[in-house]
Amino acid sequence: MAKQLRRCSFCGRTESQVDFFIMGQDNVQICNECAIQAAEIVKENTESKSKLPHLQKEDIPKPVEIKKYLDQYVIGQDEAKKFLSVAVYNHYKRLMQEKTNDDVEIEKSNIIMVGSTGTGKTLLARTIAKKLHVPFTIVDATVLTEAGYVGEDIESILTRLLQVADYDVKAAERGIVFIDEIDKIARKGDNPSITRDVSGEGVQQGLLKLLEGSVVNVPPQGGRKHPEQKMIPVNTQNILFICGGAFDGIEKKIAARLNTRVVGYSAALETDYIDKKNMLQYIAPQDLKSFGLIPEIIGRLPILTYLEPLDRVALRKILTEPKNSITKQYVKLFKMDHIELIFEEEVLEYIVDKAIEFKLGARGLRSITETIIMDKMYEMPSKNEKKLVINLEYARTKIEKANMNRLKIA
Ligand code: ADP
Repeated sequence: MAKQLRRCSFCGRTESQVDFFIMGQDNVQICNECAIQAAEIVKENTESKSKLPHLQKEDIPKPVEIKKYLDQYVIGQDEAKKFLSVAVYNHYKRLMQEKTNDDVEIEKSNIIMVGSTGTGKTLLARTIAKKLHVPFTIVDATVLTEAGYVGEDIESILTRLLQVADYDVKAAERGIVFIDEIDKIARKGDNPSITRDVSGEGVQQGLLKLLEGSVVNVPPQGGRKHPEQKMIPVNTQNILFICGGAFDGIEKKIAARLNTRVVGYSAALETDYIDKKNMLQYIAPQDLKSFGLIPEIIGRLPILTYLEPLDRVALRKILTEPKNSITKQYVKLFKMDHIELIFEEEVLEYIVDKAIEFKLGARGLRSITETIIMDKMYEMPSKNEKKLVINLEYARTKIEKANMNRLKIA
């Protein structure tokens, strides 16, 4: 009798038509391809159930609680923290709203944060992400271009969100997206140029669609490298967008507006004294328009908040106070080699002085500290010393020897 051909118990293909079989009991087998498909079905089913926990009101962190959490990691920026905390809290409430008969539907309020580079916008976004029970991603607006140009399509923003939600569309549709450097897609100049404004108005128009809430076809792998990929429709209606940007030079637009108002018929009291060191606190939607954002985008970002410039006191706090402050990180690094690391107070003041002197802001604190401590990080693990005290004299010699230009780039 001829030997019977073994076939996959699922698709019926023979051994020669597939790579291999996985054997089961009683003459049952599955081919490699069916096994992969089966695994995908299992994954889809379990994930859509587990990734979308039913939010209970008690699970939702209250604004005060969210802000307290942010306070542990981010110094100052109370106004931005409050705005963010309320926005995130309302986002949850919107997700939980039940269909009622009162016709009141809570709409989302996307946010825009304006603040100089290195004042904590991304840090705020990253920190809040840790506290969230919804998918969250950070994307950079500078890589976005109009469809057909080099760069990434607007839809790629949602690719990232889908990826962090493990392709669970329902979960992604409730997520939060932080779009960094939104100012970089502002229209350049008032005159429409002959060559198209690749990273300007066209991108804003594309972004508008996402902010407004619509169904967008998203390439699951992103980019244009996989033209064959099947698009996934994602509804952006419940996705909260938080935008951030430095808007360099916007202070001049604010000042110009305030001055005209002072001259105008209602010389508002509040403009009697203008704190010129912190013009951003007076920011209003029309300043964003003067800067080059289209009114429709501004209308879709109804919550406008600002970050304070970091002064000496704030920089000094940033160095040691946050839960994962720079100095705490170095202390931990040395502790792993059983070495106690101590920075003398004068050294901390000196690091802040240098960050201010070289206009490096908070970002510079790390590079300066790193420069001071580099040689010790090299030598100490091979020595038998249990304690390392960094004093001012030592810090000074290290910084004076270092090439400050290198620090500026860091
Ligand atoms: P931005 O997004 O505003 O350009 P970042 O949030 O990336 O700035 O800040 C750069 C770094 O500076 C952060 O990683 C953090 O170490 C530090 N930093 C900036 N602002 C603060 C702040 N307010 N509190 C604590 N650390 C800060």
